[in-house]
Amino acid sequence: MKKLIFAGLLSLLLPHKVAAQPFQEVSYTPEKTQFALFAPNDAKRVTLRIYQQGLDGKAVKTVKMKRTANELWTATVRGDLMGKFYTFDVGLGECPGVFAKAVGVNGKRGAIIDLAKTNPEGWAQDRHPVCKSPADLVIYEMHHRDFSIAREDAQYKGKFIALTESWVIAHLKQLGVNAIHILPSYDYGSVDETRLADNKYNWGYDPVNYNVPEGGYSTDPYQPEVRIREFKQMVKALHDAGIRVILDVVYNHTYDIEHSNFQRTYPDYFYRKTADGQYSNGSGCGNETASDKPMMRKFMLESVKYWINEYHIDGFRFDLMGVHDIETMNQIRAMVDTIDPTIFIYGEGWSAGSCAYPQEQLAMKAHITKMPAIAAFSDEIRDALRGPFSDDTVTGWIGGKDEAESIKFGIAGAIAHPQVDMTKVNYAKEPWALEPVQMISFVSCHDDMCLVDRLKASVPGLQSSNGQLSNSQMDELIRLDLLAQTAVFTSQGVPFMLSGEELLRDKKGVHNSFESPDEINHLDWSNLTKYPQVFTYYKNLIQLRKNHPAFRLGNADLVRKHLEFLDMPEGVVAFRLKNFAGRDDWRDIIVVLNANKADTEVSIPEGCYTIVCCDGQINEQGLGTLQGNKAVVDPQSALIIH
Ligand code: CA
Repeated sequence: MKKLIFAGLLSLLLPHKVAAQPFQEVSYTPEKTQFALFAPNDAKRVTLRIYQQGLDGKAVKTVKMKRTANELWTATVRGDLMGKFYTFDVGLGECPGVFAKAVGVNGKRGAIIDLAKTNPEGWAQDRHPVCKSPADLVIYEMHHRDFSIAREDAQYKGKFIALTESWVIAHLKQLGVNAIHILPSYDYGSVDETRLADNKYNWGYDPVNYNVPEGGYSTDPYQPEVRIREFKQMVKALHDAGIRVILDVVYNHTYDIEHSNFQRTYPDYFYRKTADGQYSNGSGCGNETASDKPMMRKFMLESVKYWINEYHIDGFRFDLMGVHDIETMNQIRAMVDTIDPTIFIYGEGWSAGSCAYPQEQLAMKAHITKMPAIAAFSDEIRDALRGPFSDDTVTGWIGGKDEAESIKFGIAGAIAHPQVDMTKVNYAKEPWALEPVQMISFVSCHDDMCLVDRLKASVPGLQSSNGQLSNSQMDELIRLDLLAQTAVFTSQGVPFMLSGEELLRDKKGVHNSFESPDEINHLDWSNLTKYPQVFTYYKNLIQLRKNHPAFRLGNADLVRKHLEFLDMPEGVVAFRLKNFAGRDDWRDIIVVLNANKADTEVSIPEGCYTIVCCDGQINEQGLGTLQGNKAVVDPQSALIIH
């Protein structure tokens, strides 16, 4: 009796206590399998069907499930169901439930397999690669097809296990990135897994089964264990190379409502509605999930936990994080901390429409101060560098616009810095990060144009009627590309790059290439030999950051203490990392970013300096020396001296 009272009191004290019931359970033994499903108490009939195959064919068994607890329906099937498939049906169509861990082709039916048998050799010894601070990460955002589909010597083009191949590991290691952010790799709906020969492409922002890898990236989507094993092989190979694996998670919406597993197990529970009873559309995809509801919150927590424990995932990028509520994100952070606090969490600090939830409680960029150890993308530095998201033809600072203050804001990592005048920053009106590692520094990602296309579309003088640039235009484009990335990689935020930028990739000018064919999205590996100077610069720039702790202080007070912006003429942003910042070997580092089309003379603190970056080249051993209090910076390039 006492106990009950105490439990009741506890739930009052803990209004956000996670609901106790499971979403679904499939408890296998060779003698019998027990099934359970979270479904409404007032469901008229809940049916479990067992199938021989993952698709087609008649059910070999149909069982009426019984309600045995609050919102819990159960059934027991005798016999050995290993290798069989199942569906649940509450009257709105069959589905594998919301938390299937293995599925048949196209994710229509759940599969009964032995997960332990999907572990690759050495899996028990597999560990998260060491990472002391998120500032040490160099994140590389990749789509499986983009990356390997057009690579001639790839054995498994467009597949998870392409990332186990030696050429991939060699490329990534040489470039120096240490975290691969893979675009949606859970089971999504837009690619028909029974017609993979069609080579259909999609980014995958249309989740079907959140807790199963996508079948289209496996060598056999019909065999449920294959995609699971191959995903783990991918993780293992990257971990063995010291590279972390970050998952792009899209809990904010489903492909549609009618066919979603959420809707088909518990109608209307998982989605938000507007005051007039319509489905809210904060995702811009026709619906928005309700992270604020206990079982949706629990779903996100358990899903993240499952990917860490089962697949050894090292980080999560939350798509449209601004659709979720702050409380849920903080609970996810706290849960992840109990497993490994170095697992990095970041997201898009915005939504794609208005959400049916109080704005001040949403996990928006402006609320990052309420979400310690969670980071958000900085559209300030991205758009300041290359121009606004809303118009591809408008340029940014690299094309001659005065956005110096927004660049400085990004260099400092979106924290309060006495030398950043917030009244002149493009979007944020106040610093939104408590720590610089809460800001993702970037100039391009899979969304909208890649950097090359954007430069061509927006920088005055880089247009051409036939799509071909002259040699001098090409030279300018490369200068600006390298200059923009130098700002990104010398920022105190967490640097992030789109895969293929190091190859000067383009998407033939396509902005929203989410379902464009491979010809648009693929990396052209011949660019490695066409523009070797680009790869070399990226590689050396990344190495410079990794070798010098001054660029990744990871702490707001240290940034305010050691990062000093220098007075510069128009078109130039410069800063000094002074007094052995982060115990760097170099006492003072000066970075001058010059967007002007002409040589620009700038004033610097009097000294005797070694030049390590100049006119599109980086060499930490030194490219020359500089004495005095003046420096002449080459057009559209960075000068780094110490
Ligand atoms: Ca799929």
